[in-house]
Amino acid sequence: MTQVHLRCRCGKLEGLATDVSPRTGNHLICYCDDCQAYAHFLERAGGRGGRSGAILDAHGGTEIFQMTPSQFQLTAGDEHLSLVKLSQKGLMRWFAGCCRTPVANTVSSARVPFVGVPRAFMESGADGNALDDALGPVIGYANARFATGEVGGLPAGASSKVPLGLIGRGLRLLAGAWLAGKNRPSPFFHPSTGAPVVVPQVLTPAEREQLRPNGA
Ligand SMILES: [Zn+2]
Ligand SMILES: [Zn+2]
Repeated sequence: MTQVHLRCRCGKLEGLATDVSPRTGNHLICYCDDCQAYAHFLERAGGRGGRSGAILDAHGGTEIFQMTPSQFQLTAGDEHLSLVKLSQKGLMRWFAGCCRTPVANTVSSARVPFVGVPRAFMESGADGNALDDALGPVIGYANARFATGEVGGLPAGASSKVPLGLIGRGLRLLAGAWLAGKNRPSPFFHPSTGAPVVVPQVLTPAEREQLRPNGA
């Protein structure tokens, strides 16, 4: 049972992911414009130029490991947990308010057993290999139509939308987790009411527009 230590850049918010393996989650890279806008949101509002460089790869992709809430816990500094939605309907994007490190993406419903954890919140072992071993290879590249930089440099198999195989695999994992009640415990939602533990900041359409990729 592999544990992955989670830690924001400044170290105030810490957590632990348990039972991490290629079997128990989806290791993917998402190039979608929302994930890119989110990286820019974390960078700009923090006033620290270049922060998104650590979140986004050379093509604007965000490396994510999708797991269930029952695999994810916060162990220190949860008062720094902050929440933004890029639009009223968008994903809940949880981040560390102390240093604006992305922490996790969830949907709005506490009942859905899904947490996407960005690699930027994961701590590598001394040589980085331990984390690579735990996550296994990247199995999918999603929304590559939004990718930036040299298109020829994209990995073979990068899909312009979300690859069907990945959707099928995701649904199977989700269904199994749903039946097993793995939406709980979750550090993101009140167990009784299902409300998020932090009131989300919801960006206005104008604020979202300012976060366009490539500064376009
Ligand atoms: Zn921090
Ligand atoms: Zn995305």
